[in-house]
Amino acid sequence: MSDLPPLREVIATHGLSASKALGQNFLFDEQLLSRIAAIPGDLSGKAVLEIGPGPGGLTRALLRAGARVTAIERDARCIPALAELSAAFPGQLRVIEGDALAENHAALLGEPFHVVANLPYNVGTVLFTRWLGGENWPPAWQSLTLMFQQEVAQRIVAPPGSGAYGRLAVLAQWRSTAKLAMKVHRSAFTPPPKVMSAIVHVTPAEAPEGVSARMLERLSEAAFGQRRKMLRQSLKGLPGALDALEACGIDPQRRAETLAIGEFVAVARALS
Ligand code: SAM
Repeated sequence: MSDLPPLREVIATHGLSASKALGQNFLFDEQLLSRIAAIPGDLSGKAVLEIGPGPGGLTRALLRAGARVTAIERDARCIPALAELSAAFPGQLRVIEGDALAENHAALLGEPFHVVANLPYNVGTVLFTRWLGGENWPPAWQSLTLMFQQEVAQRIVAPPGSGAYGRLAVLAQWRSTAKLAMKVHRSAFTPPPKVMSAIVHVTPAEAPEGVSARMLERLSEAAFGQRRKMLRQSLKGLPGALDALEACGIDPQRRAETLAIGEFVAVARALS
């Protein structure tokens, strides 16, 4: 759609000055936006959930890629701008004014969907933990393409043994594949945030059998809660954990960050 006004004009027309309280840092570079929209692969005809469309830069790119987009935006000021976008792409965009944290995404979409979002970082981490947690697997979403602070993105994809390896890495990798898809310089945003950003792409994989997600979370929470300590100390408070370590042949003198994802899974299975 070449007849859409430039994004900066949309901002001016609708008086969308970025609100700090809502974590608003907008992207205007349409080339960058279409590269982001391409990360999940061919979206033509696919259902996409976008959280926090704001003035709709990323939304446009998704619509141009042929996606059928459901967008949840909390800021009422953005709704008229998004309604214009909806009119320009008839039948392709449904806008929901509301808090993404309060919505049931699977029920809202009613079919498998891809998630794409440039979110405020605090909201992003809460949603990420929810999307990746829980006992139901495979999830309703088929992929997650999410902007994070670069430091958080690195924690999500971190390999064992690295300083960034911790609870987020275990959560993101035990039954999913998580990749760092793109780094985004802070100067790409208006206004620029203090730190660099990066986009993470996650796809669900097969869940290992016999492991409770809740148990794995409790285990990694205890293990990384005192990451400098040996497991025999950090896991003291988790009933049965020390026996489970022994049953799995894991030396209790090791520290959490040396355990491979598969070892966490084995211990959680023994505890489940
Ligand atoms: N996607 C746009 C872009 O890339 O230019 C805007 C990104 S801005 C970082 C984040 C957007 O999320 C804002 O429009 C903000 O109003 C919205 N937002 C913040 N918290 C939200 C929530 N809980 N539910 C839905 N939208 C939210």
